[in-house]
Amino acid sequence: MSDPARSIDLSLDLPLDKFHEECGVFAIYGHSEATNLTYLGLYALQHRGQESAGIATSDSREIRCFKSMGHVADIFTPERIASLPGDLAIGHTRYSTAGDTVLMNAQPFSVACNKGQIAVAHNGNITNAGELRRELEREGSIFQASSDTEVILHLIARSRERTLAGALREAMLQLEGAFSLVLLARDCVIVARDPRGFRPLAFGRMPSGEGGTAYVFASETCAFDLINADYVGDVQPGEMVSVGPDGLQRERYAPEVPHAQCVFEHVYFSRPDSIVFGRAVQESRENLGRLLARESAVEADVVVPVPDSGVAAAIGYAAESGIPFRQALIRNHYVGRTFIEPSQAIRDFGVKLKLNPVRHLLEGKRVVLVDDSIVRGTTSRKIVRMVRNAGAREVHVRISCPPTVSPCFYGVDTPREAELIASNHSVEQIREFLEADSLAYLSIEALRHAVADDRGQYCYACYTRDYPTDLVHLEELVAAKGRRR
Ligand code: AMP
Repeated sequence: MSDPARSIDLSLDLPLDKFHEECGVFAIYGHSEATNLTYLGLYALQHRGQESAGIATSDSREIRCFKSMGHVADIFTPERIASLPGDLAIGHTRYSTAGDTVLMNAQPFSVACNKGQIAVAHNGNITNAGELRRELEREGSIFQASSDTEVILHLIARSRERTLAGALREAMLQLEGAFSLVLLARDCVIVARDPRGFRPLAFGRMPSGEGGTAYVFASETCAFDLINADYVGDVQPGEMVSVGPDGLQRERYAPEVPHAQCVFEHVYFSRPDSIVFGRAVQESRENLGRLLARESAVEADVVVPVPDSGVAAAIGYAAESGIPFRQALIRNHYVGRTFIEPSQAIRDFGVKLKLNPVRHLLEGKRVVLVDDSIVRGTTSRKIVRMVRNAGAREVHVRISCPPTVSPCFYGVDTPREAELIASNHSVEQIREFLEADSLAYLSIEALRHAVADDRGQYCYACYTRDYPTDLVHLEELVAAKGRRR
């Protein structure tokens, strides 16, 4: 019989699958293999959202869309891909940061309206979506889902502008918060970023297969690498790019405001092989680790990352400190949300399902345990215990960003403030909770330095409580946080 207290502490109600927050978007114009390339692009962006995925394509006559719950590779079978013909496509992979977790909220959203058939998908969180939705509903709009993306479609449909680009421009000027969006019409693709540029959106080119040029857009450049596209640069904050029969047009649709690119993309979200906001993620992460070693040195025998999130920072920490890097925690990559507990009697796996220590690397050692962040502290505590139970003599936890004190309202899946351990505990109290010998976080100055933020172009709100936009409907946003996780 399992002890109830233990089963609460070690139960599977844990963030076991860490890589399911946020969203990834992809778009392509002018390639005969558009659907296959979108599938591959989404496959490379799978880490940005693992709950649902969808592709909408156009063969210049009709837009077709398929979306489903699950992983990209399971959803898009060869038959399914063959049923989506076209030279233009957009795709989306999603973890819900707004809206409930149901298929109805999966993207792209596709509708037929007075602007023709359109499909849209976006990454980010529109902070005035609730208010806009209430206004639209008062005026007769009917919503099918609870996702904020649908609001964009309604605004486009209601716009008096005659062109689609004009209607989208008008819609976007009413939105607040974060959005990197991709839109498909029968004969064009339009993409845009919010004026602060919270979420990334890269811009690339590749041969079309028929001697011309195809244009591609993706949340991260790792999607371009897989399909052999060249990274040209980023869609700029406040910029809209349209590609259609008349070629490519870039337009600034909103007045210039200070930029607020999400620093957490570099700390945790993005893949290290991506270039995000024009900067190599791996380089940022190694810098984080190096600076962490300079700020918070400790005498130790091994530097051990929490895989995969702590690996790049641990490499930097080891290089700077001269302490050997050892992969003493091994991750099982096949742990999914669908894991079925075999029986109550043996259900107390907790974090052991996902990580297993390499005992002989830890026995008798003074260990520097490096991870990117602490959210609630519960997983970190189990990992510290695991390392100690495997024989470590000392466990020194080093975190490659400052304490996470406030929730994100721009598309990162953080819990409410009260659940963030650093919002109401000192570093020493957190150390005690983790049962670590020492604990240190990176300073905000070092974080700025690591991402080369010389013009103040990043958002650090989760570390500073200093939100770059007016959060007029804060209570609503906080309530929505409570409904997630
Ligand atoms: P915990 O100790 O329970 O706070 O979990 C810490 C772990 O959560 C670290 O390994 C982080 O990489 C990971 N993490 C950080 N931010 C997020 C997020 N938004 N969603 C899921 N996992 C995250």
